[in-house]
Amino acid sequence: MDQKEIKKAARILIDSKLTLALTGAGISVESGIPDFRSPGGLWERYNPAEYGTIWAFRHDAAKVWKMIRETSELVERAQPNPAHLGLAQLQRLGLLHTIITQNIDSLHQKAGATRVIEYHGSSRTLSCLACGARYNAEAKKDEFPPRCACAEILKPDVVFFGEAIPLEALRESQLLASSCNALLVIGTSAEVAPANTIPRTAKLAGARIIEINLKPTLLTSSFTDIFLQGKASSMMIRLVEEVQSLRGEP
Ligand code: NAD
Ligand code: ZN
Repeated sequence: MDQKEIKKAARILIDSKLTLALTGAGISVESGIPDFRSPGGLWERYNPAEYGTIWAFRHDAAKVWKMIRETSELVERAQPNPAHLGLAQLQRLGLLHTIITQNIDSLHQKAGATRVIEYHGSSRTLSCLACGARYNAEAKKDEFPPRCACAEILKPDVVFFGEAIPLEALRESQLLASSCNALLVIGTSAEVAPANTIPRTAKLAGARIIEINLKPTLLTSSFTDIFLQGKASSMMIRLVEEVQSLRGEP
């Protein structure tokens, strides 16, 4: 990747008054959590179309919990990589307002990020679809599948296909996207709606869009201003270094 492009992106971040990041599964791949589209991975055994829908959960929650258990073991072991750490650092430098993540792995928070909108919920809590009771996932980790006091199998508070985005996350993301000056999009195929409307909203509001991905996506030829093709970790390391060098920091 041409250093000139990195420099342009760094300049945008420095000049922007309000910058957001939108992250997807790709940012956590280097932490050992596969994305949906990588071949040979977890998702070939557990097709998201079969396991990731709310109808699948309602039909056979115990079956879906086999997939949840395997992914949550992976997520628990995972550590933030330089891309998560780089975003947290941009926040500390005052150059990144909020991270909107589609991920449910809490790796932004583990990296020290402060303002994170979990657009697709999180796996830290579980809810009962029958009576509405809510539990801490940690308190239920020895139960398989975990059950509510009313005997129903609990569901993690992550957004399954067919479910609505948490209202507050939706509202806040829309508001921020329509008033930001720059948006950093990292590791998302932009194929999942309505998260993929965020870049469009930002662009219409006049924001510059910087995209980091291994390969071009639906956004690249439409909304993206600067495409940094490569791994999230190495691109973020270079971007943060460039920001610091332009600001005259060590
Ligand atoms: P996706 O799987 O559709 O797309 C991932 C994107 O990341 C692809 O465009 C791919 O080219 C890119 N990518 C892969 N490795 C990369 C790397 N090292 N550096 C930079 N880019 C890389 O993911 P999505 O758009 O987030 O949509 C899938 C949905 O499933 C989302 O809701 C997502 O959060 C969820 N999901 C979450 C996790 C997690 O929490 N870690 C894991 C899998 C899926
Ligand atoms: Zn219940």
